Amino acid sequence: AKENGRSGFHFYQNEMQQYATDRLKMEKALHHALERSELRLVYQPQVNKKGELIGLEALVRWFSPELGHIPPSQFIPIAEETGLIVPLGEWVVREACQQLQHWQQVLGLPDTFRSLAINISPYQFSREDFVNQMVNIFQQTQVDPKYIDLEITEGMLVENIRAVAAKMQRLQQYGVQFSIDDFGTGYSSLRYLKHLPLSQLKIDQSFIRDISEDPNSYEIINTIISMAKHMKLSVIAEGVETLFEKEVLTSIGCTRFQGYFFSKPLDKNDLNALLLKNSHY
Ligand code: C2E
Ligand code: CA
Ligand code: CA
Ligand code: CA
Repeated sequence: AKENGRSGFHFYQNEMQQYATDRLKMEKALHHALERSELRLVYQPQVNKKGELIGLEALVRWFSPELGHIPPSQFIPIAEETGLIVPLGEWVVREACQQLQHWQQVLGLPDTFRSLAINISPYQFSREDFVNQMVNIFQQTQVDPKYIDLEITEGMLVENIRAVAAKMQRLQQYGVQFSIDDFGTGYSSLRYLKHLPLSQLKIDQSFIRDISEDPNSYEIINTIISMAKHMKLSVIAEGVETLFEKEVLTSIGCTRFQGYFFSKPLDKNDLNALLLKNSHY
């Protein structure tokens, strides 16, 4: 048993070492990803009950020639820990705004279209110059900020709620909308939510996934929707994968949807084609 424990420990140590090396490799590669244009954005459609396009969520993708495709769930945390999220996040916002402006000018978006959602990391948001950075990008790209929906997380609201609220209010004056991403998974106090200039709650996909098996999930979604109505907030369900899920959600008053059932995240070229054709799913 002693021997086993020992080799077990060594095995663990090797694994840790491997993990550390992989991480270091990724961190190094990430440093160059921006300047080498290895990042791109894909856009996942958001639709209403009729399946009409009401929005898009920009999601970042990274292909490293050395490491291959790396999902954002792996590199965003590293970008956050290293501070690289600041230039990376700025690139995402600029790229997304440029693309939206292009679509509006050249192809035209449907009348039902209301916003392009962009994920903002807490670290990025907490920077002193965040608001100015955003406003600069809006001016440079000439995008109308009322079409921009910044997705923030509940975790961001735990610390220094006043500073967060002040930044949100400054951006709201330009027309920017705010959604709470992954809603229901964090610890946001409803008392605080009331004082923030929010327009939407985005129900986390873990609740949607459980909708048929777990009565608790159903109840949680039900509660979120009625609470949102009360607070005059919109609700969007993410990670909707089946017609069944869409129908259950519709029956409890959800009117906005995002997920594989409607569309996977699309390349900008695919979206060009789609916008040229029509905007129904
Ligand atoms: P998120 O913001 O919650 O984004 C939703 C994730 O669910 C995306 O994964 C999307 O591709 C995936 N998804 C969409 N529909 C479905 C579905 O029907 N079923 C399932 N199972 N998944 C679905 P992705 O693109 O891998 O992004 C993962 C996370 O990485 C995002 O979660 C977000 O937290 C972060 N992320 C992505 N892009 C950015 C970015 O530009 N900036 C920041 N700060 N974070 C980002
Ligand atoms: Ca999101
Ligand atoms: Ca989410
Ligand atoms: Ca998530």
